[in-house]
Formats: sequence, C-alpha cells, structure tokens
Amino acid sequence: MNLTSLFNLTYGLCLISSKNGDKINACVVNSVFQVTSENPTIAISMSKKNYTYEMIKKSGIFNISILGKQTPTSLIGNFGFKSGKDINKFENYNYEKGKNGAPILKDYTISYIEAEVINSIEVGTHTVFIGKIVDCEYLSEAEPMTYAYYHNIKGGKSAKNAPTFAQQEAEEISRKTEKSSNNKKYKCDVCGYIYDPQIGDPENGIDSETSFEKIPEEWVCPICRVHKNRFTIL
Ligand code: FE
Repeated sequence: MNLTSLFNLTYGLCLISSKNGDKINACVVNSVFQVTSENPTIAISMSKKNYTYEMIKKSGIFNISILGKQTPTSLIGNFGFKSGKDINKFENYNYEKGKNGAPILKDYTISYIEAEVINSIEVGTHTVFIGKIVDCEYLSEAEPMTYAYYHNIKGGKSAKNAPTFAQQEAEEISRKTEKSSNNKKYKCDVCGYIYDPQIGDPENGIDSETSFEKIPEEWVCPICRVHKNRFTIL
C-alpha cells in the first residue's frame, strides 16, 4: 500500500464555523464535498479534538466559508493553528451571522454555504457530518484556494488535526532526502510552516531567492508568529 496515492486527491481550503449559545468558532478544513445536488447536501470531516466539532455536535449547524486564493497565511494560522477555547478567533476579522446564527467570514470568502446536520458517521478520530444546505451565496469570481496552492506556493501545512496530516509527515520525510545544501528549507517547530528560500515570504516582504539566514531578525513565522529561533533546518 502506497499512501502517496492520497497526495493526488485535490482539496480546497474552507473555514467551517458553528456556534453554541453566544459562543462562535471556526477552523480551517480541507475535507468538504458535495453529496447530492437535488435536495442539496454537503459533507465535512471534522477531528473530534476541534472546538468547532463540539459546537457542531451540540448545535447541529455549520457554515462553510470557501476561501479565495488571496487568503493570507496569517488567516490560515489564526483559524487553523489556534484553539477557540483560548481566544476569540474572529476578533480581528469581519464576519456576519448567517440565517442559522453561525458566523460567515466576510474577508477573503468567495462563496458560503449554510447547513443543518441531517446525519453523521463516526470514523475513529473524525466524524463525517452530512448537512442539508439551507442557504448559500456566490460572492466573488476569484479563484478558490486549493490545498495544493496553499501547500506549494504559500508553504503551508495542515493543522495537526486535519485528516491529511499523517500524509504530510510522510511527505516531509521524503523531502528531507532530497535537500540541497544551497537551498535549505527551514521548518517552524510550532506550527510546521516550511520556509522555502525559492518562494520566500512575499506577503511579509521577503522576496523569493532569499536564504533563511538573510531574513531580518524581526521577521516572524507568517502562520503562528514565532521568531526565527524557533525554526529548524530540514
Ligand atoms: Fe509557525
């Protein structure tokens, strides 16, 4: 069995949000798919460790904000690598409440879907929620952020609760075997973001072809905001 096969599955990055009483939360997932078009339904796979999972389980509702290609890595970091148990993830972002009361992100969302849970399937660490679509809106013609684009162009990585995380660990091991001494990549010990000198970090003023050593000391990880000294060479 070669699990590399799973790398060839395509995904988009979305924000899944829900609520419980007055509390709202959201997390980043890459596992959303349409199930039916007549009486339209949608399915999501959620880690049972996520705070958003607990909210969906209790409220029976979730919204999907489909993210565009322009979404900054900092937004993925905020919603994908922090816990809503510790912070209000929406504090610095514009959002509105959907008809079901759960939030919809306004920044960088190109379409959104509101859903009510009609069924769920337990699959070990994850639950697959199947939702009836109760509302949806097409907001922008901008291209969606695919998982491949986030990973290859933005240097991003799955949060540790994502279904694809284990696959990425395998990918990293294979990447280590092909590193070249002139082009060293560095990995953030906290969130797993990989700095690739060929790509740089243009969103934060670091041009492509900038070696890690030449990045200014005040630069921080674009996802989790820790300093350079928390990075390890790959
Ligand atoms: Fe980081």
